[in-house]
Amino acid sequence: MSGILAFALHYEGAYNKNSLGAVSEAARLADQLGVEAHAVVVGDVSDELSASLGDWGVTRVFRASGVPEGLAQPVVDVMAKVIDDNGHDYALFGGGLLGFEIGAGLAARLNAGVTMEVTRVDAVDGRLTAERPIHGDSSVSTSSYKDRGIIIGRLNAFETASPTGATAAVEDVEVALSPFSTRARMVRRGEARGEEIDIEGADHLVAGGRGLGGPEGFELCEALAEALGGAVAATRAVVDAGWYPYSTQIGQTGKTVSPKLYLAAGISGAVQHKVGFQSAQNIVAINKDANAPIFEYCDLGVVGDLNKILPRLTEAVRAKKR
Ligand SMILES: Cc1cc2nc3c(=O)[nH]c(=O)nc-3n(C[C@H](O)[C@H](O)[C@H](O)COP(=O)(O)OP(=O)(O)OC[C@H]3O[C@@H](n4cnc5c(N)ncnc54)[C@H](O)[C@@H]3O)c2cc1C
Repeated sequence: MSGILAFALHYEGAYNKNSLGAVSEAARLADQLGVEAHAVVVGDVSDELSASLGDWGVTRVFRASGVPEGLAQPVVDVMAKVIDDNGHDYALFGGGLLGFEIGAGLAARLNAGVTMEVTRVDAVDGRLTAERPIHGDSSVSTSSYKDRGIIIGRLNAFETASPTGATAAVEDVEVALSPFSTRARMVRRGEARGEEIDIEGADHLVAGGRGLGGPEGFELCEALAEALGGAVAATRAVVDAGWYPYSTQIGQTGKTVSPKLYLAAGISGAVQHKVGFQSAQNIVAINKDANAPIFEYCDLGVVGDLNKILPRLTEAVRAKKR
């Protein structure tokens, strides 16, 4: 049997958006290929939570209960066995460090082709092709696979489908872990960066881009966000540069938000960023370039230097609240 196997990561009784995107994408592609999509879960996952993956289109869920979650090598053992036993042609992962590590290990174990940071997958002539941006996102390369393929998405690159209400059949799998897979153990698990900021729930977002000039430029955004009682968001360019945490990235491969106010400072307004906040009620842009694309779709545009405008705006908001 051929098919597509997706890895579903869960934490505290819920799957993350990234995993549900991978599961949905596996189901979409399997449908196009005329095969089935399945998922793998490891660790302590209830029958109900396992079966609920049917909601996103998979028909079978393989559950390895005794296997520690959060570590890559044990999951490689599980997925390699499931693929060997069931003949899947492809394994699909959402991005994120664990997905990268498991996918790379699985490719080595199965001698399969692997593509990372994938932003699009297509079914072409009965096989999958994967696209990934290269050269600083200025070009796109397309991979196809001679035999088995491991496809690892960029973080949140795959869209989560609407739940169908279906349930998947849950099958417990027994896997003898490789001796080297049990050498590491999970000491602590948690989100280290940006956990205190609820970007998706904030009514007011002050977003910063490359125009801030460096990480210290974010202090201007933080001051205004604090005055407004909101949170700070960022573009991919600045999180990639290490200026601000990844957890604050808005856009195609980041978070999607719909606040009452999205104030974009020093942001050009690339379409990949725009898709993350286009349903905001009010979009305000500050940019020194009058031809910046963001001025084509914002509600209020201010042409000028953010270093002068942001502090004055912050002061004005504070004064109004006094
Ligand atoms: C497949 C793919 C997925 C992507 N996903 C995302 C995503 O999820 N999110 C995302 O954000 N991007 C994403 N990108 C990248 C996106 O295409 C842009 O490169 C990025 O959004 C640009 O970030 P920026 O606006 O901060 O930087 P820039 O495009 O460099 O813009 C900086 C702006 O600051 C202005 N500026 C400079 N100095 C000042 C000043 N003193 N005062 C006022 N304005 C000033 C400039 O005029 C300029 O318009 C993706 C790209 C690809 C190919």
